[in-house]
Amino acid sequence: MTPVTSFEGKTVALFGLGGSGLATVLALKEGGARVIACDDNPAKMAEAGSKGIETADLRDADWSQFSSFILSPGVPLTHPEPHWSAKLAREAGVEIIGDIELFCRERAKIAPNAPFIAITGTNGKSTTTALIAHILLEAGRDVQVGGNIGTAILSLEPPSDNRIHVIECSSFQIDLAPSLSSTIGVHLNLSPDHIDRHGTMELYAAIKERLVAKAGLAIIGVDDPMSRAIADACEAKGVNVARVSVEPLNVKGVFADGETLVGVTGADAAPLANLSGIGSLRGAHNAQNAAAAVAIALALNVSPDEIRSGLHTFPGLPHRMEEVGRIGEALFINDSKATNADSTEKALKSFDDIFWILGGKAKEGGIEPLKEYFPKIRKAYLIGAAADEFSRTLSSQVPHVHCGTLDTAVKQAASDAQALGAHAVVLLSPACASYDQFPNYEVRGNHFRDLVRALPGIEARGA
Ligand code: ADP
Repeated sequence: MTPVTSFEGKTVALFGLGGSGLATVLALKEGGARVIACDDNPAKMAEAGSKGIETADLRDADWSQFSSFILSPGVPLTHPEPHWSAKLAREAGVEIIGDIELFCRERAKIAPNAPFIAITGTNGKSTTTALIAHILLEAGRDVQVGGNIGTAILSLEPPSDNRIHVIECSSFQIDLAPSLSSTIGVHLNLSPDHIDRHGTMELYAAIKERLVAKAGLAIIGVDDPMSRAIADACEAKGVNVARVSVEPLNVKGVFADGETLVGVTGADAAPLANLSGIGSLRGAHNAQNAAAAVAIALALNVSPDEIRSGLHTFPGLPHRMEEVGRIGEALFINDSKATNADSTEKALKSFDDIFWILGGKAKEGGIEPLKEYFPKIRKAYLIGAAADEFSRTLSSQVPHVHCGTLDTAVKQAASDAQALGAHAVVLLSPACASYDQFPNYEVRGNHFRDLVRALPGIEARGA
């Protein structure tokens, strides 16, 4: 844990008693603060109370006693409209901050030179965070990894000069961290997402820009126009910028030339690593993530050999084009995290001869945007509520069957894929939310993995 000592002897209010909220209460209390916590969910209030946490309805509180108000990043700060607790804090003139801000203040106080890597972007945050943490750990560094992925930032060990914090930051977390300044700030890409929570694309981009604008080194993906503009704006302000791209670069940075990662320094461009054969980093999107991770590793003086070795041993993250097993030549891939057409596109791009399991609760537009990949699909297996809609889109272009459940789909797809005998891929990439049949995409992906691993003749991969 990282005790938050900058609020010693003070009283703070906190709203949102999820995992990071609870971790924040403990870290503040450990540092000597009094915390009054609240949540709209009575069960969460009761759970916190049972853990000895002081709770109160903040609507009835005297806000003049609070030095700060700590808000969970899941709770609206501005859009579609501020949560009632944020409104009360504003009316009382109490600052509204989040757990990343508390960490930044603690770092500034106890170890201002401690290496702090902050990673954001619309897509690829978790993969890049996990990958650079893996490379650093394999290279023998002392690494703490968390934030928006895995462990809450304040549950990690405290910052210190020889310990590297690798922290995934969502835009909501950045919005609640006014003093966020990192050793290396990474922004991967920008596409419309969470606009309901940020108001406009411009406001969303401005929040992402804040993470890199105050970094010692800003590593910025420049494959979309708004991120390119962020890189240019940072450079114009004198920030040290390294660019990342899946197109050739002639400025400082790392780019992917197909599966080869090339480092550019000054006038020199030198190949650094090759991603071919690395199952956990298939596809151009992962080349962008890998290029960013390599740029971070170079900045931290990890040797090219250690970088190559870390890339090759990266196990990947579950549910993101995760290789779960093989039967003969047929490969089984769990891409349950693909809850929309955009994400599924990444998987369809990465494979041929696909036996595609899809469906669930459809998103707007369904699978219409994926039509250009239909020639790669050998057969589709429809599950869940979207089956009829998707059947209409696939029409006569793609042979398909209504399977109803994932269990039936896996059985049928496995048998068809084995019959093909060549490089068949059974791909769960639903392009849908899971809620009609599963509590979340993780449960859906875990169920797929279990079903695949129970198939006769399966050679399991991964954990
Ligand atoms: P995040 O943490 O930002 O949600 P993840 O690393 O968990 O990102 O990846 C989630 C999904 O986003 C992946 O399954 C893939 O479809 C897509 N994705 C990953 N990296 C990128 C990228 N660099 N550019 C575009 N899409 C990506």
